[in-house]
Amino acid sequence: MKKEDKELIYDLLKKTDAYVTGYTSQAFAAPVSFEDDGELDQQVEKTVVSEPVDGPTTNDALTLDNLKSKILRCTKCPLARTRNNVVPGEGVEHPDVLVIGEGPGYDEDMSGRPFVGKAGVLLDKMLAAIGLDRNKNCYIANIVKCRPPNNRDPEPAEQSACSGFLEAQIHILKPKMILCMGRIAGHKMLDSQSPLNQLRGQFHDYNGIPLMVTYHPSALLRDQALKAPAWEDLKAFRRRLNEITGQ
Ligand code: URA
Repeated sequence: MKKEDKELIYDLLKKTDAYVTGYTSQAFAAPVSFEDDGELDQQVEKTVVSEPVDGPTTNDALTLDNLKSKILRCTKCPLARTRNNVVPGEGVEHPDVLVIGEGPGYDEDMSGRPFVGKAGVLLDKMLAAIGLDRNKNCYIANIVKCRPPNNRDPEPAEQSACSGFLEAQIHILKPKMILCMGRIAGHKMLDSQSPLNQLRGQFHDYNGIPLMVTYHPSALLRDQALKAPAWEDLKAFRRRLNEITGQ
């Protein structure tokens, strides 16, 4: 393929993505340059990223409210066809902590609010135990904003279709710390496939924001033995937050 054709396609994809999300996702933020393919058109396409980017960039006018209305209208993946409600997320505008789950379940899909079922009740208790509250100092979001049918894991393509929204939320919210609930959220945020028990119990870095992965409250409801290690995670998380906020 010719360099010019590649540039045209790339530009079209970038504009479409920004039009749908109102946001230039990290995948498109770096300048790129293309080369012509060789004679037989069989060479692997070379994409040269000339400058590393520090973090996501947004359109200046993007606010939590207009991002929310874009999320509510999204039809980028097949989950849009089976949802009852989109679940954009909820909480305070300048949270200490962004809590990230994997995706809405039945109760969330019916109400349009994150973590309101049994797992949500437990999540609220876990947060309260370390002085956190979705109405005071947290924001709660999910990797995917629409319910996967029968609560199956969200597919990688569904997660990718939704990731620009979460990136934009993080850019606007600027949380001091991120708490990922469970394997799906941890894997996506850290771009890792390591087992959850290797990822939890330590701090990771997400574009300069300390991030911890711990057990999903649904896992704690299924297996009481996970409560003790989850509590250790939460205490360590609170200690780090105290250091950051000077408490
Ligand atoms: N589980 C999640 O991961 N997110 C929700 O919003 C509800 C249950």
